[in-house]
Amino acid sequence: MAQVQRMSQLMIKTLRDDPADAETLSHKLLVRAGYVRRTSAGIWSWLPLGKRVLDNISRIVREEMDAIGAQEVLLPALLPKEPYQESGRWEEYGDLLFRLQDRKGADYLLGPTHEEIFTLVVKDQCTSYKDLPVMLYQIQTKYRDEARPRSGVLRGREFQMKDSYSFDVSDEGLEESYRLHREAYQKIFARLGLDYRIVSAVSGAMGGSASEEFLAPAAAGEDTFADCPHCDYAANTEAVTFALTPAEGEHGAVEELDTPDTPTIETLAEHLGVPAAATLKNLLVKVDGEIVAVGVPGNREVDLGKLGEHLAPAEVELVTAEDFVGREDLVRGYVGPQGLEKVRYLADPRVAPGTAWITGANKEGKHAKNVVAGRDFEVDEYVDVVVVEEGDPCPQCGTGLVLDRAIEIGHIFQLGRKYADTFQLDVLGKEGKPVRVTMGSYGIGVSRAVAALAEQSADGQGLCWPREVAPAEVHVVAAGKALQTELALEVGERLGAAGLRVLVDDRAGVSPGVKFTDAELIGVPTILVAGRRSAEGIVELKDRRTGEREELTVEEAVGRLT
Ligand code: ATP
Ligand code: MG
Ligand code: MG
Ligand code: MG
Repeated sequence: MAQVQRMSQLMIKTLRDDPADAETLSHKLLVRAGYVRRTSAGIWSWLPLGKRVLDNISRIVREEMDAIGAQEVLLPALLPKEPYQESGRWEEYGDLLFRLQDRKGADYLLGPTHEEIFTLVVKDQCTSYKDLPVMLYQIQTKYRDEARPRSGVLRGREFQMKDSYSFDVSDEGLEESYRLHREAYQKIFARLGLDYRIVSAVSGAMGGSASEEFLAPAAAGEDTFADCPHCDYAANTEAVTFALTPAEGEHGAVEELDTPDTPTIETLAEHLGVPAAATLKNLLVKVDGEIVAVGVPGNREVDLGKLGEHLAPAEVELVTAEDFVGREDLVRGYVGPQGLEKVRYLADPRVAPGTAWITGANKEGKHAKNVVAGRDFEVDEYVDVVVVEEGDPCPQCGTGLVLDRAIEIGHIFQLGRKYADTFQLDVLGKEGKPVRVTMGSYGIGVSRAVAALAEQSADGQGLCWPREVAPAEVHVVAAGKALQTELALEVGERLGAAGLRVLVDDRAGVSPGVKFTDAELIGVPTILVAGRRSAEGIVELKDRRTGEREELTVEEAVGRLT
């Protein structure tokens, strides 16, 4: 787009009515204001104004990633099956993965995230500890066949993600790469003008390596987080998931398993011979009639409880809702970041009170996501399963917790050696011996951030962008005939020459009323109107957010804005 974009030449069709299927504010407004159009479920086309916002966000992300020394690359989105098969994710991802075949019948996938491929690139490029640390990133289209693509670009099946990966020889190195990313993310989201919180995410609460999410509070968010009004505790309620109280001395079990030393729930499930954990949100297994293990797919570490004592797969079965009858002790209590105290249950506001929301097998042994007891199988008695409720005591300081909805806009993760183990990613160490590399991965939902910003900043009139991401900085409206249009274009050119990004509504045959409505809907932060007093060289300057307006001479207005 040109620095000065004339609306008479811009491909834009604004809509007065909300799209029929739209539930969230951002979905409604981004469609109505002509930023995006739906091509298919969860698949979106970005129109000129939307592309501008997307590019502005990408530019900010690039600048901050470059500033911490990360190098930009671009890996393919169309990927061969083999690396994902080796890591286990070809299976684990289940229905989330878009799979396809080439003309010879070879299997491919459309990348949902790229840990495998980056590991292989670094294995090829880096051979010595002197080549590390290295941080790589890309801004790329990702594919996930989401079960419920909804809310417009908030949850797409095709979406833009900035994903980066760090490679270090030592744990201290990984911590430093993680810290650098965390700080870069803070700068990025501050520059984007997003209100956000950093919260502990699933793996952190499992007592494993650090994982934190960046959440943007918004009613349309699909995540719930618990926030302490008194101390710095904040956690995604996803982090509040099943876990058992490990009795003293039971942690030795890990070594007895013939799995990598930091087993995932998937490797655990495989080891136990229980059905693929990919279909499960949480995995609970029962050994000799006792519930002993819990975990979340994708988690680096699993609380193995007493599992090490019971290695025969035949003795292991998945837990069903019946197992919870009369066992309130299993589904109540807290786990703080300090460690596991009691069994926790995934608190999900979509689950009606009085229903046990158990993930696992039903009576026929069929596995489902989000199995709802009572709907998917019968139970004798319901157990009330909500762990984190509004007002529950903060695990750190005891103050009543506040629950809020939010949009996950970023996620940073210390992966450790999981992928390096899979692909034997070693470099030659200082002592001349091979050293296994340790990794981090870090994501930002670039297209989701557009929707998150829209959610947080829109008002009754329409979108309302922060300046740095807005499709233009000034929206000049020609409210009248030839005289007004001439003045509007002249002011637009002057602002453009001064380096501002300007949108000029010079459309002929469109009433001032319609132009004002469109300007409010499109949401450029400053609106400059050439109207009634154009002959005197007087224009009106309006702040989109506050609605404050002021009459100024053209000179004053240009001076004010440049
Ligand atoms: P969610 O919990 O919303 O499904 P996720 O935890 O699966 O997200 P990650 O694997 O952590 O997502 O991916 C990194 C980032 O990519 C997320 O923090 C989010 O901002 C973005 N993202 C993930 N899935 C989508 C999607 N379907 N549409 C748009 N952005 C997405
Ligand atoms: Mg997801
Ligand atoms: Mg998530
Ligand atoms: Mg995530």
